[in-house]
Amino acid sequence: MIIGSGPASWTAAIYTARANLKPLVYEGAVIDENRVNGTLPLGQLALTTEVENYPGFPAGDLSQYLQSALDEEDQYLVAMHQKEGCSGPELMHLMRKQAKNFGTRVITDDIVEVDFDRRPFRLKSLSGETAEAHAVIVATGARANYLGLPSEDRYKNRGVSACAVCDGALPRFRNKPLVVVGGGDSAVEEADYLSKFASMVHMVHRRGELRASKIMADRALNNPKVTVEWHTEVDEVMGTDAGGVTGVRLLSTKGASKRDLDVSGMFLAIGHTPNTSFLAGKLALTPKNYIDWTVPFRTHTSVDGVFAAGDVADDYYRQAVTAAGSGCMAALDAERWLAAKGL
Ligand code: NAP
Repeated sequence: MIIGSGPASWTAAIYTARANLKPLVYEGAVIDENRVNGTLPLGQLALTTEVENYPGFPAGDLSQYLQSALDEEDQYLVAMHQKEGCSGPELMHLMRKQAKNFGTRVITDDIVEVDFDRRPFRLKSLSGETAEAHAVIVATGARANYLGLPSEDRYKNRGVSACAVCDGALPRFRNKPLVVVGGGDSAVEEADYLSKFASMVHMVHRRGELRASKIMADRALNNPKVTVEWHTEVDEVMGTDAGGVTGVRLLSTKGASKRDLDVSGMFLAIGHTPNTSFLAGKLALTPKNYIDWTVPFRTHTSVDGVFAAGDVADDYYRQAVTAAGSGCMAALDAERWLAAKGL
């Protein structure tokens, strides 16, 4: 059984299906709670735009790219196939389809309870179904963090969001000033994306230097509709019951000065939390609640026969391609483990 539906999960499904292990994927439930938390089926990539760094899908101005990267024959072949890159949701649908084409069974539900003390393992879903499996691959990913302010909570879905791609085009944000909180790659990506709709995007960052990679940071810093509020934090989200967010109160991290910024939306991009609450006490977790990979360079966990792949066990690389890679590793580890047990 495979739990989750990001690149790690579908890659594990493709490999285990092709190994005739009859994988069953619990891809997550389509419920409001998952929508609010950013844990709907197809994972975080389904909440992004263009995927520029997944190998095999060159994007952007393809004619220029091809001129520089491919020889004449390959340019002709790619032009014939009209290859034009891939968006996050497209990539995930393609992976899911690829897994299903090899016979993967998919159930659109959350796993909420696991019993790893008995063999075969028994898992219970949100809708109350139970399923048994000889081996389990956990690939439930991670979800966006919030600041934890009561005022932020009050205006969630009424101007406060952790997903620019999901919500940025809504009328309430169009031609209005917006705030993006954070200084990493996600923050600059969100700010750049939102600048297409907003009148101005203020990136609120608590330090004087972005954490984002140079190429991503430059994209935001060179964007005339993006400005960085250095050394600041959001102290409070302001708004009205009727209209939602109307502004944010910023607190300087270099003193106690505060100032207000009129904005109609606040987008969070301050890192992630692994989706492991259903595993508490069942599997060894790290201090940040990621699944502990117990064998170096392998996907084994503290329970024999349970493997982990993707962001749920990786707070360091967190890329689509590394998640897919570890999904493949988990599938091979599970296959070898099952074979050794004669299962
Ligand atoms: P991240 O790199 O961990 O950055 C989180 C940002 O949020 C940091 O700037 C951090 O500030 C700030 N932050 C954290 N907690 C905060 C708080 N309570 N209040 C205010 N600010 C807070 O997370 P990420 O940007 O989501 O990126 C995660 C990984 O995905 C990275 O490896 C990144 O390279 C990758 N990624 C890549 C792409 C891409 O290549 N297209 C796009 C998105 C993400 P400090 O800097 O002060 O710690």
